[in-house]
Amino acid sequence: MRAAVITASSAPLELREMPIPEPGAHQVLVRMEACGICHVDVEIACGDWPAQPALPLISGHEGVGIVEQVGEGVAASRLGRRVALPWLCRACGECGFCLSGWMVLCESQRNTGHRIGGGHAEYAVADARHAVPVPDGVPPLEAAPLTCAGVTGYKAVRAGRVGPADRVAVFGVGGPGHLAIQYARHAGGFVTAVDVEAGMLDLARELGAEQVIDARTRDPAAVIQAQGGADVAIALTAVPSAHEHALRSLRHGGRLVCARPPGGAIPDPVFEAVTRGITMVGSVVGTREDLVEVFALHAAGHTVVTVEPRKLEEINEAFADILADGARAHLAIEY
Ligand SMILES: [Zn+2]
Ligand SMILES: [Zn+2]
Repeated sequence: MRAAVITASSAPLELREMPIPEPGAHQVLVRMEACGICHVDVEIACGDWPAQPALPLISGHEGVGIVEQVGEGVAASRLGRRVALPWLCRACGECGFCLSGWMVLCESQRNTGHRIGGGHAEYAVADARHAVPVPDGVPPLEAAPLTCAGVTGYKAVRAGRVGPADRVAVFGVGGPGHLAIQYARHAGGFVTAVDVEAGMLDLARELGAEQVIDARTRDPAAVIQAQGGADVAIALTAVPSAHEHALRSLRHGGRLVCARPPGGAIPDPVFEAVTRGITMVGSVVGTREDLVEVFALHAAGHTVVTVEPRKLEEINEAFADILADGARAHLAIEY
């Protein structure tokens, strides 16, 4: 099989011919149909992700494909089914987080395309328990971005407890952001989208944002405060100023959801949190159940995924486009 392999930090990924892996006990072998490219994939390849993996490593944690073989202990009924291979690929199954459905907080977790080879290859093996069924009617190229970007945006909206008539400010209209806008609207919120790219702001409008703000030309916090402030602000970009603007855009008692670590220092948020009664929430991807819900919403026609297919041999160009913020749509390798 062909695979895109990270061999050294900041080096281009190497396209290698490798043997198709064998599924072990409780594993499935998946023939990839599509695998999205998440910003975290690029950060891992560049050596910028805080927990550096052992190399060489096949990247990709938005893989979607068909189960072609099952290992010992896996029901044969899973053969031929389409599954998604998300960021979380192994957890202890015994800690309080795992037992309450919060495996993404398990301290013993392993992640796809980080500790375990991912979906930027024609085949991958995965723990059958964490291979999430993709419903009929969700094409693989659309399921792939939902597997990380979608569930991250969904969980952020849930973490912000967005409800009817809430004023929601979404900072960063990227992969997770363009979907968070739709989930927030679906929950009944009025959405303001903030970005620095005209194309992304146009996309936000097309997806139903009531208001868009170009942070290059206007102070988004000042604009939103002049309208009474946001009930919920969701930061989905690593740009530190976006986190700062998100906090400042909130009304008293508002809720700040940080779903992406800022890539630099931000002014101490604790003073504002205390004096203005702000709730700050960290949100990391989403649970397996969240992903099931994300797929169900998409299958029912409630979301639109903007995705641009690339070939496996174009993966380095795709990574470069993401680094340069030159991609309007979420990029995904199509096999
Ligand atoms: Zn991701
Ligand atoms: Zn656990």
